[in-house]
Amino acid sequence: MTYDRLVCANCAAPVSEGRCPVCRANRERLQQEHPLSGLHPMALIALAAVVIAALALLAAHQTV
Ligand SMILES: [Zn+2]
Repeated sequence: MTYDRLVCANCAAPVSEGRCPVCRANRERLQQEHPLSGLHPMALIALAAVVIAALALLAAHQTV
């Protein structure tokens, strides 16, 4: 999760320092992926559960 410990393969400096374009690209990619990988799957699962529950309730209501 912590990209500040990653060392760039291009300039051998910490990626968090952004010394070269590769560092900056990696830093941006990791910063964008971090909230998505931490939050998005769980939010998606929760949303799916809510939608499925709502559809089940709707289907049960319609059949009765
Ligand atoms: Zn670099």
